[in-house]
Amino acid sequence: MKKLLATDLDGTLLKNDKTVSIFTVTKVHEMINEGHYFVVATGRPFFRITKILNQLDIVSDNIYCICNNGGLIISTDGSNVLYEENMPHEHAIELIDLAIKYDINMLVYQRDYINTDHLDECVTILNGEPRLRLINGTKEDLKKIPNVCKVVYNGTHEKLLEFKSKIPNEILEKYNFVFSGLDFLEVNNKTIDKGVAVNRLAKMLNIDSNNIYTIGDEENDIAMIKASKNGCCVLNANPKLKEISKYITLSNEEDGVAHLIDKKILKEKIIVSACLLGDNCKYNGGNNLKENIIDDLKDYTIIKICPEVFGGLPIPRIPSEIIGNKVINKEGFDVTYNYYTGANIALELAKKHNVKIAILKQKSPSCGVGKIYDGTFSNNIIDGYGVTAKLFKENNIEVYTEENYFEILKKKSWYYEKNIKIGNS
Ligand code: SF4
Repeated sequence: MKKLLATDLDGTLLKNDKTVSIFTVTKVHEMINEGHYFVVATGRPFFRITKILNQLDIVSDNIYCICNNGGLIISTDGSNVLYEENMPHEHAIELIDLAIKYDINMLVYQRDYINTDHLDECVTILNGEPRLRLINGTKEDLKKIPNVCKVVYNGTHEKLLEFKSKIPNEILEKYNFVFSGLDFLEVNNKTIDKGVAVNRLAKMLNIDSNNIYTIGDEENDIAMIKASKNGCCVLNANPKLKEISKYITLSNEEDGVAHLIDKKILKEKIIVSACLLGDNCKYNGGNNLKENIIDDLKDYTIIKICPEVFGGLPIPRIPSEIIGNKVINKEGFDVTYNYYTGANIALELAKKHNVKIAILKQKSPSCGVGKIYDGTFSNNIIDGYGVTAKLFKENNIEVYTEENYFEILKKKSWYYEKNIKIGNS
């Protein structure tokens, strides 16, 4: 079941200093390695995200990103354009005329350049950007620019609000006007928004709509939050997004996107005794298949272990029981070394995969949780733990059995579900 996560950049994936953390990069790669799609969905043009794509280490011809608020869907290495839509030239002229009429500064975007007639404190963020072209002329000259993908008005938030309030309704209804930040009012064709683009890409990639996740922080993310069944926002998001989002994750400064990936995209890993899954690794060559366990654990990635086999014991083998500090088989041979070796290999595996929970076969001298045979080979049960179960417990891995693993499923709520903070671990 492949999932697609589309994330905004500024204020969402990126920290306030415009970087991404190692934790986030790791989670992005984990989800890609599990076969899911990670998609950057931004208002920025492609050339202004290449540095970030490199930082994320996701430059490839089969990883995609959405730029220009949905006007461009392109592979992260720039080689493969899946969709591109520019404005009809007369629309660009109409929007430029508006700025001239109300004396508002603007940036006119093409796929490879940002054009403007001014540089002020509002565009300092772009200063030094080699693709920023200062037009040597007046605002009128901006009308000559072909292939415009969007127009962005910039100024103080108050000035932009006042400007927006003066725009005639028929023009407001004709285009998508969205704030991408307090000082930037972006305008795209009505047919373009991040939501349309996310669904367009998901269709191309054959992703079921139930498996589309989106996350953002600002008004230009509203369309994609609404368009997805799993809309999410960061804790620092505009209140309008908090109202419509299904999930609210941690803030951008706390790696909210990585936490979303961890909790909703990646499956939690769980260790299960192999014999419970039907593997014929039991001492007599049989298994202890627990019916429905695989189905019950469908939301987890199962890692199976058989510590006795890990420890070098054959199948079939002489049964063994714990006697004091040793494990002795029914013929009186000391197999303690095999049991401890197998337990340590299982623990290493758990640590490697960051596993926090295990479901182990009750009563086994390796896997028993709370009950084991008493060492007399006469089917008597006493309190105690198998060697692996004990080692797991000592290393803070929760151990359950085939008899009580339903408790895990009940405890699975973990997150912010519509403003209810349940936890963030
Ligand atoms: Fe099952 Fe554990 Fe025994 Fe292997 S060691 S057969 S997994 S109970």
